[in-house]
Amino acid sequence: MTKTEQMKQIRDEVLVLKASPLYEYRTTNNYFPVIGEGSHDAKIMFVGEAPGRNEAKTGRPFCGAAGKVLDQLLAHVGIPRTSVYITNIVKDRPPENRDPLQGEIDIYGPFLDRQIEIIQPRVIASLGRYAMGYIMKKFDLELELEPIGKAHGKAYSGKASYGDIDIATLYHPCVAVYNPNNIESLKKDFEILRKYA
Ligand code: URA
Repeated sequence: MTKTEQMKQIRDEVLVLKASPLYEYRTTNNYFPVIGEGSHDAKIMFVGEAPGRNEAKTGRPFCGAAGKVLDQLLAHVGIPRTSVYITNIVKDRPPENRDPLQGEIDIYGPFLDRQIEIIQPRVIASLGRYAMGYIMKKFDLELELEPIGKAHGKAYSGKASYGDIDIATLYHPCVAVYNPNNIESLKKDFEILRKYA
């Protein structure tokens, strides 16, 4: 199967994932699952938390206010959005944008794992503490976990099934939505991604 076919298969499976606690909320609101977007050959893969309202209405990751910040940060480091792959751990919108529950992370996590195997990125940039926690644990870096306030802007080395992988732990772009003064700190942290572009 081609990479595109494998991604479509993931989409088809998530579409009918009745076991998900978020399935009914999605269907009653006519929302879409948000699988991911970007290059299937990306060296840089961004992993966010879960879709918000704009994302669930369009099926596209980071297309609302946090997405505008992400676009600004990518522009700062000169990395085109089309060259990276952007996804989330949780593929359906949690009600009222609440934090994802462990059960939701558990049910959607394996789809993210498959996406990592398809894309085989050189670096995963986790956005926020939920993505950081999931990715650090996945690559046996749990012992190095620190609060996001300390971990932001750092990179860790891990081993993927296909070779070396780095994990860059970044703040979630929404921190600059709530407080625009944070953008400078986020820009500085994003500079760590330049070397992978
Ligand atoms: N926040 C996320 O974590 N992901 C999105 O796709 C949008 C906002």
